[in-house]
Parts: sequence; structure tokens; C-alpha cells
Amino acid sequence: MKFKYLFLSLLSLLVLSACSNDDDFLFSDTNVSELTRSETFSLKYPMSSFISKISLNTTDQNTVNGYLSDMQNEFGKWYLPLFVKLKSNPIAEIKRGSTGTGSDAPAAYYANQNILVFLTGADIRYNGVCEELIHAGQQRIYPGGIAQYGKKKGTPNIEFEAKLAQDLVSCINDLPFNLGEGADNSTEYVQWILELCGDGSYPSETKVLNTEVKSMGYYQMVISFGKKYAAYNYPVIMDLKPLYINYISDSI
Ligand SMILES: [Zn+2]
Repeated sequence: MKFKYLFLSLLSLLVLSACSNDDDFLFSDTNVSELTRSETFSLKYPMSSFISKISLNTTDQNTVNGYLSDMQNEFGKWYLPLFVKLKSNPIAEIKRGSTGTGSDAPAAYYANQNILVFLTGADIRYNGVCEELIHAGQQRIYPGGIAQYGKKKGTPNIEFEAKLAQDLVSCINDLPFNLGEGADNSTEYVQWILELCGDGSYPSETKVLNTEVKSMGYYQMVISFGKKYAAYNYPVIMDLKPLYINYISDSI
């Protein structure tokens, strides 16, 4: 139930701001307050199993663990393959604070350094944790990694796929979704997502690439998404396939 509330809150409060560094992919922050969590969580893949160095205080660890529980338990069917991938090639460090680069984002996965950074404790939010872990997964799945697309051609491909991957899980679970919505396709995007997974199943890469609504398919959705956010407004690579989604689809 907490998720329905969270997603409804996201819909009503969605205020996006984003920035990007040369070598990373950043989460577009949302203006949402989160409940403080104090439970003990049962995790199949605890942080220590897929992150080598945990530089967070106990409160922050507890917050992250709550979201990991949601990802691994409530939505485990669609996220456990991500943790399998991360465990086989762990993230170097998770930490909080400024990187000193002058362009800090609320949450970021720095692909070249292989680190996950949250600016403040309040920036540790569900969609941010999902987003940056997905980017870490993309880094391990795309040949040559994703830093090659950072702040240049291909940025909208990588960012859109990360949003789409979350929207697919939301749709399958009857939750609202709009993270991947673009500048001019709100109606088509919703219809497209429903055609992809309205039957309750996670779509194959082939289905993602071949499904169209009003002549808008995957790459048209990427283009529209890129136009919506200045930080993602770089050329789209028209043959870079959604390899993370393909990995998840093949793994479940
Ligand atoms: Zn991102």
C-alpha cells in the first residue's frame, strides 16, 4: 500500500530537475517526502553482496535497505536479475555527500568510478535508488559500458531505458507510471506502455522494438523523452537497442 501512495504522490508532485557530468548518468530528482524507515529487512542480496564499500551512516543504510526490500521482495521478479548482475561485478562504493566536481546531482551513478553517490540523506529516494542501480546494471550489460554515451549522443537512449524499465514494473503491478513520458507524447506513451505490458508480463526486446502507437515506436519515444529534459537533450542513437530490458526479459 505504501507504494500506491508513493507513486500517487510522485504523480502529483513530479518536479524534475537534472544535470549531468561527463562520465555519468544522473537521476532526475523528484520533490517527494519519504517516510523514515526503521524496520529490519530481509534481503536476498544485502548491500554488502553487491557493493564493496558501504560509506553510509546507519540511518541512510536503513533507508536504502527499505528500498532494496521493495525491489527484491515486492518487485523481486523484475529486479532480482539486476542484483545477480551487480553481485557478479560489484559497485565499488556507495556514499553520501558532494563529489567536489561542482555539478552534483541528488543521486548519481558515476560509471567511470563505479560509485553510487547521494548528495544528502533526503536525496535517498525509491526512484533514485532504482534508477542508479539500473544505470549500474546498464554499465555491466552494454558493450563498453555507458560512460561512452554520457552527455553526448546516446544519453537519451540510456536515460529513457532506465525510466522505461521502472515504468514497466509499475504498469505490471497496476501502479501509475510516467517516468519515461516525453515532451509531446503523453497519450501515446501511456498507450504504448499498456500495449507492452498491460497483459501483466514483462515484454521482450523484440516486443519493445516492434510495438508502435500512432507510428511512434521505441526510438520515437526516446526522441520525445530527450526533448523534454535539457540534460538529456542529445542525439538519439537509432540502432542502440534496450539491452538492459533485454537482459531482464531473458532472465525472468
Ligand atoms: Zn538516470
